[in-house]
Amino acid sequence: MWRTLHSPDRMNGRETIGRAILAAGFAVPLAVLAGWGWWTLHRAADNPAYVRRVALPSAEARIDLPRIEGPADASRPLVVIDAGHGGHDPGASGAGGQREKDVTLALARAVRDALLRQGRVRVAMTRDADRFLVLEERADVARRLGADLFVSIHADAADNPDASGATVYTLSERGSDAVADAVAQRENRADMAGGVQLGGASNTVSSILVDLSQREMRARSVAFGGLVRREGEGRLTFHANPQREAAFVVLKSLDLPSALVEAGYISNAGDAAAMADPAWRGRFAGVLASAIGITLARQEAGAAPTAAARDAAEVAAALVP
Ligand SMILES: [Zn+2]
Repeated sequence: MWRTLHSPDRMNGRETIGRAILAAGFAVPLAVLAGWGWWTLHRAADNPAYVRRVALPSAEARIDLPRIEGPADASRPLVVIDAGHGGHDPGASGAGGQREKDVTLALARAVRDALLRQGRVRVAMTRDADRFLVLEERADVARRLGADLFVSIHADAADNPDASGATVYTLSERGSDAVADAVAQRENRADMAGGVQLGGASNTVSSILVDLSQREMRARSVAFGGLVRREGEGRLTFHANPQREAAFVVLKSLDLPSALVEAGYISNAGDAAAMADPAWRGRFAGVLASAIGITLARQEAGAAPTAAARDAAEVAAALVP
């Protein structure tokens, strides 16, 4: 391409330069891709433990996309609800024998049902059964469906049995505090349960892709968290520090607004009983459905950046220790 650029043929210099720029535009990303591919293969070959099991969601072996429920109108906004854990990954355990994977599925179904009753947005679930998905697959479902919002539902656990209340986590490059980091580490461990460590590649890619639009996604995600708190006021009990940021793998590769909601502490007797109660789940679902509905309506109206920025500023002030 450089020879073309410096060619003595100046008869049509502007066109030549235009072509060279076009060629460079294709060649540079291709070279980057080729280099990344070589590096990935090379690293895998150097470290056989890394490829002990081949469970990466390749294009051919991708999981089937879930059903989209709600209005038949494909122009309606779409939220993907992700029930945390599942299958051979039970998540955290409660003192009464509750398993996080069952709690998250019941809560996710309640949120879906509340949204379907509202009838304004389309809904898909990453899983609607007791099955295992790696974190990357959960995000991949949202990406492939072209979702407008991704909400992952979990239940927290702590050594202190008094720890209780809901927390909304959004993505940060670094956690907002040590506790948030510990929660992220525990949730990220789900991938290890599958025997394959994922996320290395997407970490690299996501750090390259940190740009304005990602910051915008983060602002919208934080605004969604703020809405969960606002809508939950007087209806849900929140943790003393209810909105935090941490490096969650499940949110990391998404280029859409996303949040991880810890509905309560499965390790707390009161919270565990609440999450097992259909009436409480209905209240939780109502709060989330409101926050999801408002977020998607704002995005649809194109008013999101302003509203999100305002909410984000409020929340950012609250996040400062
Ligand atoms: Zn979890």
